[in-house]
Amino acid sequence: MSQPEIPKKQWAQVIQKTGGPVEYKEIDVQQPGPDEVLINIKFSGVCHTDLHAVNGDWPLPTKLPLVGGHEGAGVVVARGELVKDVEIGDYAGVKWINGSCLACDFCQQADEPLCPKALLSGYTVDGSFQQYCIAKAAHVARLTKDMDLAAAAPVLCAGITVYKGLKESGARPGQTVAIVGAGGGLGSLAQQYAKAMGLRVIAIDTGDEKKKMCLEQLDAAEFVDFAKSENVVKDVQAATEDGLGPHAVLLVAVNEKPFQQAAEYVRPRGTVVCIGLPAGAYLRAPVFETVIKMITIRGSYVGNRKDSAEALDFFRRGLIKAPFKVVGLSELQSVYDKMVKGEIAGRYVLDTSK
Ligand code: NAD
Ligand code: ZN
Ligand code: ZN
Repeated sequence: MSQPEIPKKQWAQVIQKTGGPVEYKEIDVQQPGPDEVLINIKFSGVCHTDLHAVNGDWPLPTKLPLVGGHEGAGVVVARGELVKDVEIGDYAGVKWINGSCLACDFCQQADEPLCPKALLSGYTVDGSFQQYCIAKAAHVARLTKDMDLAAAAPVLCAGITVYKGLKESGARPGQTVAIVGAGGGLGSLAQQYAKAMGLRVIAIDTGDEKKKMCLEQLDAAEFVDFAKSENVVKDVQAATEDGLGPHAVLLVAVNEKPFQQAAEYVRPRGTVVCIGLPAGAYLRAPVFETVIKMITIRGSYVGNRKDSAEALDFFRRGLIKAPFKVVGLSELQSVYDKMVKGEIAGRYVLDTSK
């Protein structure tokens, strides 16, 4: 393959300080280091994590100035001299885990997200809200040429994360999983992965648009509207066939409240998996019920390279069809405005050429 032409300047969305605003402007294209690749990002999903990064919601500082984004799908245009297994012209994806040391205790046992030296795309290193993004070759997601890059983008964080979360839940085919925040980016993909894994889904979110999407497009068995329900705990339990509650709960909401309810409606022996990261939130569970119902409560954080490959393979096989809307990279602020109001059903994907 002939060497693609790489411009010196590119368009990007940049924040100068925590709290924003994001600024659409031209910045320099960087050169990849010896173990890195440069990816011409075609599409990038917008994850709620990107908004947490702008707002400084978490007790972990971002780099500044910062280019956000960690669901970047594109084409490899340059590689460092140590990179042997990624070719120029390959389709590749930038994930949240941009790189890790590959040598620590956690990396050795394939828990790369727990690596103390992990580099986080769009957080501690610049991410995919730019036309040319760098990632460590060992960690870039391998995409195949038959993939639609716009549809693949949300899989790179949302898909991998919920696939891992469902595995961590221990739920088995035939069992029921409640997905809390089902109408959002992670939630919509979680419903598709759950279905592909043979699970029955209770979708929990609010509003008619999300209800319709969950029941008609994503095949959820039941929908509980948390804003309309007078008793969410009772309604979720009633949505299971025997009334005893779901075997697993995937918390992907951006609000603290459901993190304090899930232990009450999960089934005895069931598992509550915490994935969403609302600012300053705390978990709460009644000790009595936790003990006598033998409940497990755990956290789940993105996925390792193998989880990523598996999640992408579900997508490649046509099992994951979650709704997304494409707008230009220049429109990121308007996507954040909708996200703040909880108005996004599914995912927004940015086209970096606009
Ligand atoms: P999103 O904004 O697309 O979706 C969040 C959904 O939660 C919305 O549909 C909203 O209506 C719903 N919601 C709000 N309050 C609720 C309630 N009380 N009950 C039920 N639903 C409620 O966000 P997203 O991009 O899907 O991200 C969700 C969260 O997951 C964010 O906090 C993000 O940072 C986090 N996240 C975590 C990981 C991880 O590895 N653990 C990875 C990616 C994202
Ligand atoms: Zn994300
Ligand atoms: Zn490590």
